[in-house]
Amino acid sequence: MIDIIEKIKKAEITGRSGCNFPVWKKWSLVKENLSEKHYIICNASEGELETFKDYYLLKNHSKEVIEGIKIALDTFQNSSAYIYLNKDYYSELKDLLEGLIDDRFVLFKKEGGYIGGEETAILEAIEGKRPEPRSKPPFPTKSGLWGYPTLINNVETFYSVYQIERGSYKKTRFYSISGKVKNKGVFEFHEETTIREILEKTRNAPDFDYFLQVGGGACGEIMLPEELDKKVKGLASIIVYDRKKTEPFLLMEKWAKFLFEGNCNKCTPCREGTYRILEIIKKKKMEEIDDIFFAMENSSFCPLGRVAVVPFQSLLNKIVNNNDKNNN
Ligand code: SF4
Repeated sequence: MIDIIEKIKKAEITGRSGCNFPVWKKWSLVKENLSEKHYIICNASEGELETFKDYYLLKNHSKEVIEGIKIALDTFQNSSAYIYLNKDYYSELKDLLEGLIDDRFVLFKKEGGYIGGEETAILEAIEGKRPEPRSKPPFPTKSGLWGYPTLINNVETFYSVYQIERGSYKKTRFYSISGKVKNKGVFEFHEETTIREILEKTRNAPDFDYFLQVGGGACGEIMLPEELDKKVKGLASIIVYDRKKTEPFLLMEKWAKFLFEGNCNKCTPCREGTYRILEIIKKKKMEEIDDIFFAMENSSFCPLGRVAVVPFQSLLNKIVNNNDKNNN
């Protein structure tokens, strides 16, 4: 019988949270760390704006997701699993999930804001501490929950592991599509599908002047119609905006508020940077914005602060500055 880790390796799946780390490697690292106890965490914190594919999977394919976690429980010696749920998902799906789990599982309600979904912040939250990121190394695969090797995978990864074990995995991924579209929802496509094909096949290709945000409604990159032949592997959401009806500064204010409220306050570049971005955008006085972006990108403690600049920079470069040029 082929070992599940070998099967995952052959399937070439990578993490569903956007980092694209090979899943088999993570499982191997946990397995290599011989320990009297192992932990498994299913990350269902899904906190990005307009991203809801994990909710869709938990609601519509909960049995398959739980079976995927059980495969991990059977793979790692003396292990227990936590399902770390976004607060709303916890309230809505608790009864459904409780009907499917056994005494090896714990359902845990997410703590903190957006950053509460970062994998080491999850460890802190489950251990009863403030949910803020830890320094890495050590990585959770070596020293995770209470110092034991811990496997942290996203909901979609466990769903795919279930399919791999059954031989039904077809290299597909799930995408939340929202914004100014006719068919809002979650759709499954082969990972090689381009953004243009996804919009066309879901009957969501806009017939008006538009732009997109890909990869999350706060940290995702802004893309123009001419960039849509890019594949969106690992990016969980596509949001369509009507270019004529979207006020860029109001949109940026929404992101800035979300990031200011959702960061964990641990490090100065991100805590002060998100505050300053919000103030600057409210006043539309942009002179210092590049210095703040630089400081956040280069000295934030965790990925949130480092990628938080992406939507602002891409919107300013592709939309705001172009509008200004056309108006002059
Ligand atoms: S970059 Fe710093 S303040 Fe922002 S979420 Fe990460 S650790 Fe917290």
